[in-house]
Amino acid sequence: MNNVIAIDGPAASGKSTVAKRVAIEIDGLYVDSGALYRAITWKALQEGVDTSDFVANAKVAQSIDPEFYVENNVLRFRIEGQELNAELRTAEINDNVSYIAATPAARDVVMVWLHKMPALGTLVMEGRDIGTAVFPDAANKFYLDASPEERARRRHAEQANSKEQQSVTEVNSSLQKRDKIDSSRKKDPLKIADDAVKVDSTGKSIEDVVKLICDSCKK
Ligand code: C5P
Repeated sequence: MNNVIAIDGPAASGKSTVAKRVAIEIDGLYVDSGALYRAITWKALQEGVDTSDFVANAKVAQSIDPEFYVENNVLRFRIEGQELNAELRTAEINDNVSYIAATPAARDVVMVWLHKMPALGTLVMEGRDIGTAVFPDAANKFYLDASPEERARRRHAEQANSKEQQSVTEVNSSLQKRDKIDSSRKKDPLKIADDAVKVDSTGKSIEDVVKLICDSCKK
């Protein structure tokens, strides 16, 4: 799998910003796998599903048929003709998405979607299990992390213009809770692949991290 660059790591470790830029640098396609779990969560909440009900979660996941399309260096999707952006970034989605992602049948559905993508080009895919489970043969794997304080601070700053601004402490506890569920679930938990390059972005600029990843991929 030479055409997949896997970038895994905990919530708010800077994966999206870095992965998007790496995709532009190498003229590849950025894929946000977490957005797919968020989209299933959005649909489940719309249908009034209690996300601790894995049977109901599975049904929702299996009912979705995303339409994927390429825009510049990004692989985007629509659900029932609708593009989902801010809808996927609410506190309610943040609080429920890890239960959807812990549902084995929902993971199977997302896996099928992700496995079709390499046909579209070189992928820079971010997530939790890309290097360990989705594309274990990826030639380039990175595990991006940052200190909990820095992650909470960054995510808080990103929410500066949102309607539901939380305090740094609230953001921190939501991130910790999500990481705990993501790393302790049975199927494909968040963990570092044995052959991943570990990058701690604490105190590093985005440019530095992008350069480190691009240089490492050229080797
Ligand atoms: O990356 P993001 O924070 O948007 O991901 C949202 C959630 O989706 C994660 O907290 C995790 O529960 C789930 N996820 C996953 N596997 C991936 C990507 C995301 O379980 N590859």
